[in-house]
Amino acid sequence: MTRSFLIKPVLGQKYPCVTHGNGIYLFDKQGKQYIDGSSGAVTASIGHGVQEIIDAMAEQAKKVSFVYRSQFTTEAAEQLAKKLSEIAPGDLNWSFFVNSGSEATETAMKIAIQYWQEKGITTKNKIISRRMSYHGITMGALSMSGHVQRRSRFEPMLENYPSVSAPYYYRDAGNLTIEECDDFYAQELETEILRVGKDNIAAFIAEPMIGAAGGALTPSEQYFQKMKAVCDRYDILFIADEVMTGIGRTGKMFAMEHFGVIPDIIATGKGMSAGYTPMAATIVSERVMEAMFSGSKVVMSGHTFSANPQSAAISLAVLHYIEKYNLVENSAEMGAYLKGKICELAEKSEIIGDVRGKGLFLGIEFVEDQLTKTSFSRELDVTSRIVNANFEEGLLVYPANAGQDGLTGDAIILSPPLTITKEEVDEVVRRFSVALEKVEKELSG
Ligand code: PLP
Repeated sequence: MTRSFLIKPVLGQKYPCVTHGNGIYLFDKQGKQYIDGSSGAVTASIGHGVQEIIDAMAEQAKKVSFVYRSQFTTEAAEQLAKKLSEIAPGDLNWSFFVNSGSEATETAMKIAIQYWQEKGITTKNKIISRRMSYHGITMGALSMSGHVQRRSRFEPMLENYPSVSAPYYYRDAGNLTIEECDDFYAQELETEILRVGKDNIAAFIAEPMIGAAGGALTPSEQYFQKMKAVCDRYDILFIADEVMTGIGRTGKMFAMEHFGVIPDIIATGKGMSAGYTPMAATIVSERVMEAMFSGSKVVMSGHTFSANPQSAAISLAVLHYIEKYNLVENSAEMGAYLKGKICELAEKSEIIGDVRGKGLFLGIEFVEDQLTKTSFSRELDVTSRIVNANFEEGLLVYPANAGQDGLTGDAIILSPPLTITKEEVDEVVRRFSVALEKVEKELSG
């Protein structure tokens, strides 16, 4: 047997070797076909093997693949920045390119802190976040994240940033209305700001819809308006982490468009290049950039590969593809269709507690008791059972329980490519229902 020298997430575990992909499908060396029902980690949003993107890659490679961003600019990077300023809400017109979502949120954090410094305020350097959140794996991004499992080993080295609850109506609404829940969340934010001191907080960061740490937890239309009003009252910037939800995933170009609030800074990644190259961006408003332009004129961040023309050209081609084939609209339409089908399954299922989300960003939470909403014990590891049973059926779904914190139950995300057709959705639902039945039998037996 050939020895592998590749470090994998779980050492010693065997992973099938993928040979190629086509549309929503992936194929492994054994010839097994999988539907990419999660777009990998909510990334491959235009599907696999798209010829237009391959052509754009080759075109750019023929011109130039790399220049250093402190020496040159390129048409590819300039055009991508222009495109993002067109599709981003409000006056978010300035893009800082990085290579991953973690770098995008970490850059957002640094820009927020620098913004206050440029204004002569040096104490505003904490970021307030939410306990059910994931903003990335680097130390700064992890410091802002509530994902207990991913934090735990590094806890002593992380900043102890303040945090508040996330909107989790499935469990929090109980005796309260959604409106009362939102008032509670906003009040909690205000109380925390007063406890820490507004002069110590640069920004509030939130995913418009929570991904990895909750499974498409979706706020009400008013939630962000209430949270933003608190931020404004205390001079705190608002960073929307759209790494997972951005670029059409939720049926709008950016998920914040559902909630009628324009952030000061947006972090985006994943679907921005649809997995064809590492590419992410921190998109910054005019207001924030003005402070930089009239201050030190330097944004104190950057990576060797930032704004490299090869990745920029690929990402630009992905954004054109999304526009050309109306994939944001398709996400809204197919998402509603898929959600309807999963809700039908939920009526028959004994373990589906909640179906949530917008567009092709859907979360499914599993419970032991649907009436009392009691979660399964951790030992049963229902999330892994669901993921594995679907894998066997040839359907990839994304695990989304933050784990070990008692906050999130067992949950998964269904987020197929935005290119998916109605017939393909039917096949996703068929495979999912077979896997679900299998897990239900296992748990009852
Ligand atoms: N922010 C959010 C909301 C994410 O879901 C993720 C990754 O899952 C990240 C940031 C980190 O992105 P990356 O894995 O590209 O570093």
